[in-house]
Amino acid sequence: MPVAPTLAFQDTLSRFRNALRLLEKQEEHGPVDDEENFPSRLLQKIAEIGALSATLPVENGGLGLHDSPVGMEALSELLRLAGRLNLALGRCLEGHINVVRLVSLYGSAQQRAVLAEYLQHNILAGIWVTDGTPPVALVRSGNEIRLTGQKGFASAVRAVGVALITARTEHGDTVMVLVPVGEKARMGPGPGHLTGMSGSGTGSYDFTGVVVPSTNIIGKPGDYLRQPEFSAGAWRGSAVALGGMDHLVHLLLDELRGRGRASNPHQQVRIGEALILRETASMWVRRAAMAACNSHAEAGETVAIVNLARIAVEQAALALIPLVQRGLGVMAFVRGRPVERVMRDLATYLRQPAPDETLTEAAGWFTEHEWPKDMT
Ligand SMILES: Cc1cc2nc3c(=O)[nH]c(=O)nc-3n(C[C@H](O)[C@H](O)[C@H](O)COP(=O)(O)OP(=O)(O)OC[C@H]3O[C@@H](n4cnc5c(N)ncnc54)[C@H](O)[C@@H]3O)c2cc1C
Repeated sequence: MPVAPTLAFQDTLSRFRNALRLLEKQEEHGPVDDEENFPSRLLQKIAEIGALSATLPVENGGLGLHDSPVGMEALSELLRLAGRLNLALGRCLEGHINVVRLVSLYGSAQQRAVLAEYLQHNILAGIWVTDGTPPVALVRSGNEIRLTGQKGFASAVRAVGVALITARTEHGDTVMVLVPVGEKARMGPGPGHLTGMSGSGTGSYDFTGVVVPSTNIIGKPGDYLRQPEFSAGAWRGSAVALGGMDHLVHLLLDELRGRGRASNPHQQVRIGEALILRETASMWVRRAAMAACNSHAEAGETVAIVNLARIAVEQAALALIPLVQRGLGVMAFVRGRPVERVMRDLATYLRQPAPDETLTEAAGWFTEHEWPKDMT
């Protein structure tokens, strides 16, 4: 049931906004993060301002950001600011919110309360679905389930305290399971050394031998892939990528101004084009967020709009990177400079599953259906 945002809600949001902006200022002048290290200090600050538990539904003590268009705008801003601050941080926050969303949609009241308890203790949640070798499977034994296999791409593997994972049952179904994690001996290097996003702490986690109560299974078989949420949730990743674009545009302008080159007419063309790309992405993120909370639309329409938005943001970000490289020249290639690092992080972050299918499925929907009237 959608809730009207209260004054307390608006108050909390403006506290977040101010705290994140302040954090951004401090980061600019503070010690530069080691890009290989997970941004633990930033995560701690995000936790201290209450942003991890604020993402919960109202009945679990959160702000219920998914329950109203105003809440979705606020969530979008939170993710965008986090991505601007640090894309690795944005990735973790996005995963954390994905867990909250899936448990609130498909979990029982008791399971929602269990997750809320973790988050109120400022524990970071992770969504680990990409399998390693062998993939994660489960076997039931009485009231318990025994897990085997590995997750291969587990962001913040050393910082997450509770993970929502997918696992194959003996019957070949896919179910979601909430599992406490954090055993160092189970952590591995994951996919290898990524050229960007190495701060996301993406590793592998071996679940072999982990036993949890069967009440930790969230929802029914197939819920993880249920539409529209399976695809529509991707709007949050686009909001984080938009934050990365904000950061790049800021660095481009800042450096051009600093070198006395910003008012050169050729650079002005690039600045103008960069602003257009950023604003295009911003409009698509907003549209996707609104589509994702429109309960009156058909699932196929919601999915198609969010899919188009995902590709539009990807294209805009990919077009921004060479503009920045041409505008700043070789200084944009000096390893470890903020602009060079953000470009590598952003290019890596944009690698999300099945982009071809994402675009063509959306095209297929709108080949058969009219564009929604309220969006023309
Ligand atoms: C920094 C980072 C952190 C991550 N963290 C997590 C995490 O915490 N949890 C998690 O579960 N996952 C995580 N992932 C994995 C992520 O969710 C995706 O699985 C991964 O990024 C997929 O990207 P891809 O480019 O390899 O996609 P792919 O889907 O493999 O796409 C690559 C290309 O192949 C095409 N393609 C796809 N399928 C086919 C096909 N069947 N036939 C032909 N062509 C095809 C695509 O259109 C595209 O052109 C993370 C990834 C990164 C980079």
